[in-house]
Amino acid sequence: MADQPFDDRDGYIWMDGEFTPWREAKVHVLTHAMHYASCVFEGERAYGGRIFESLRHSQRLVRSAEIMGFELPVTIEELEAIKTEALAKSGLDKAYVRAFAWRGSEMMGVSAQNNTIHLAVAVWPWGDYFAEKMKGIHMTHAEWRRPAPDTAPCHAKAAGLYMICTLSKHAAERDGYADALMLDYRGQVAEATGANIFFVRDGVLHTPTPDCFLNGITRQTAIKLAQARQIEVIERAIMPDELATFSECFITGSAAEVTPVAEIGGIIYKPSDISEALVQDYSDLVNGRMSFPA
Ligand code: PMP
Repeated sequence: MADQPFDDRDGYIWMDGEFTPWREAKVHVLTHAMHYASCVFEGERAYGGRIFESLRHSQRLVRSAEIMGFELPVTIEELEAIKTEALAKSGLDKAYVRAFAWRGSEMMGVSAQNNTIHLAVAVWPWGDYFAEKMKGIHMTHAEWRRPAPDTAPCHAKAAGLYMICTLSKHAAERDGYADALMLDYRGQVAEATGANIFFVRDGVLHTPTPDCFLNGITRQTAIKLAQARQIEVIERAIMPDELATFSECFITGSAAEVTPVAEIGGIIYKPSDISEALVQDYSDLVNGRMSFPA
């Protein structure tokens, strides 16, 4: 199944009001989203048949659409019901959930004021984002930087922003790394290509202030989990020359969950107490073995 192309699978995709057989859930080649990246999306995971932080993901999808200047064709409550139904229909307990909305085909120029907004939800099985997760992943530096808030709508989870992520991830993989660390437009440490980043020094967590990239739902969860363990968390500007001063590093994301980092461009980290505790706490939380810290 894992090697099966995404357009050639069994099952159903909820699309524009109904469940469509998976292979028939198609769009026309002249779709605004494909030419002008007018698409917003969510990546969510379900554990034990329940989507973790589903409502917050739905709220972010609505907010991303707003930032991109359009409104979803459903309410948040309807979106929640659609996602729940799509997960149930997939028959999967543990799954990845992709909800996305995009501008259609009425206009095919930069302007697309009146294009229909389409919405779809697809659910598929997905294991660990990174193989051999607990050993820690090896990262390199990305050549691309996160753009300034007045250069791109950086708080939207919008397709266009992933152009530099795919370029950076491909370059990393070409060189044998799992991922890349992106700096921001000021040269500060920002995030990985699809996950936020944390560092440990002397028992304290340091993480970049999310002022030009997504303040991930997993990031916010990890901060709460750390604080529940009385671990101090400092959100601040982190410069690349500090990377060698940290002992541990991990990244967070709905897909990546909490994934320890073993290297960033020759600087070695040893996944240790704090990374292990947060990997465990996150797993306990999403699998319902622990309740959300207050
Ligand atoms: N940054 C980027 C670029 C991402 O794609 C993601 C994944 N959505 C994140 C951060 C983490 O966000 P979340 O924890 O909400 O999945």
